[in-house]
Parts: sequence; C-alpha cells; structure tokens
Amino acid sequence: MIRGVDKVATSQEFNGIIMYRRDYKERDLLVKILTDQIGKTMFMVKDAKKRGSRIGPGVLPNTHGRYAGSLNQTGMSFINAVLDAEQYFTISQDIFKNAYATYILALLDSAYQDNQPLGHWFEIISNALTLIDEGADEQIIANIIEIQLLSAFGVQPEWRQCVVCGRNDLPFDYSMKYNGLICQQHFSMDLHRLHLDQKTIFFLRQFSVIKMDQINNINVSDVTKKNLRIVIDQIYDESVGLKLKSKKFIDEMDSWSDKLTLKPRTNIDKPE
Ligand SMILES: [Zn+2]
Repeated sequence: MIRGVDKVATSQEFNGIIMYRRDYKERDLLVKILTDQIGKTMFMVKDAKKRGSRIGPGVLPNTHGRYAGSLNQTGMSFINAVLDAEQYFTISQDIFKNAYATYILALLDSAYQDNQPLGHWFEIISNALTLIDEGADEQIIANIIEIQLLSAFGVQPEWRQCVVCGRNDLPFDYSMKYNGLICQQHFSMDLHRLHLDQKTIFFLRQFSVIKMDQINNINVSDVTKKNLRIVIDQIYDESVGLKLKSKKFIDEMDSWSDKLTLKPRTNIDKPE
C-alpha cells in the first residue's frame, strides 16, 4: 500500500484543546479542536470509536494535548498521532466545573470564525481551563473570559474612565446607553444606569485587564458574584444577544438547591 505522501509532508505538530465531538458515521468522529496554529478547526478522526484506536483516547472530552496531523484552513483537518494528551481531571468529574468549561469553549466558538489563528486566545483558554481544573472559582474565570471576549463580539465597553468626561476618581456606574462607565457627576445622563455597587464595578474593571496567568487567588463574595452574573448577563443579553445552550444549563444549575449533592457526571459531550 502506498501511503499518501502529501499527507505526511503536510503533517505538523500542534497543541490542542478538545472543544466538542460528535458522531460521524459508525466508527468515526468529528472533533472540534482549539489549536494553537489555526484557531478552532474541525477534525475528522477515522475509526476513533473502534476498540484499540490509538487516537480515540486522545480526543476525549475535556482533553488537551500535543498532536501531529494535517491542519487545513479550508476543509477538514486530520490527526495522524496523539503525542501527549491529558484529561482535565477535576473538570471531567465535577458537573459545575464541566458546565463552565463547556460554556467558555462555546463562547469562544461563537466569538470567532473557524480556521483563523486566534493569537493569545489559545493561551488564555488553556490557562483558564487549567485554573478551573486546579480549583479556581469557575464562575469568576468565566466572567473574566466573558468580559475580555466582548470586543470580539463588537462590544467595547469603556472600563477605564467616565465615557462622558474622562474622570476616574469618582464613584462609577455602568451605562448600557453609553456602553461603559459613567461617573457620579454624569449619573443623570442615563436614567437607566445599572445602579451597581462599587465592589462590582471594581471587579469588572479588573476583569477587563487581568491576565489569566497572573491570577493566583481572587476572593469575591457571594453577593458580588451574584451582582457580576447579573450585570454581565445584561450586557450579553442587550449588546451581544447570544443564546447558548451551555449558558442556559448554567442558569438552570444555579437555580438548583445549593446543597444538592449530585453524583459527578463526566460526560457533557455535545455541541451547541
Ligand atoms: Zn463623568
């Protein structure tokens, strides 16, 4: 048998994070992977579901690794070998962390087109998932991603200073109308300002500039976490207009009784 020379010639190594997978034919899988080379791209993995597949275990949900394959910016990409792959262990065991990891990946999926290099976003997402896996607060990590992805959705709130006068030494509020912060002196310019407390404002401003690799430990009270959730939801609802299944799931999850002790579920394995 003659092997496809072209395929070998174009094979390259890349880092990847499994975003989601779906069945394709009886034994094959379509796997969407966030790569550090060409951003998000769809891979066809032949025989992945066949017992003894060498690639199958490397493309499980919640997995990241180093792969060799052919990356095609037009059409399907292929994996030739899994060089080193590892599951995010905690994320795969914890339904809450799993839900947020799924949401973060879905958000990125909506924000950008496939097959285009995403620059620093591979690092950001990779660091975010590692932090969540290592025990960081999954809501806070997701909030940071949400705030920092806004510009990709064409929304660029002004977080540095008052939109109207440029001051940054007075108490702020957020204005949907002006798409950013307004200072106390200009509160009257927006009757529908969000009436946020200064702690919530503080974290929103932090989240807009914080680097994922600089996060050690962020302590946010439950009340402030609730407020952050409300304001970020409002910005997304009104300015982005996104309806993700994974976000709906998180909203439903939040409404469950806090003390529910659920058996961990490992498999939220579905595309949006
Ligand atoms: Zn002002």
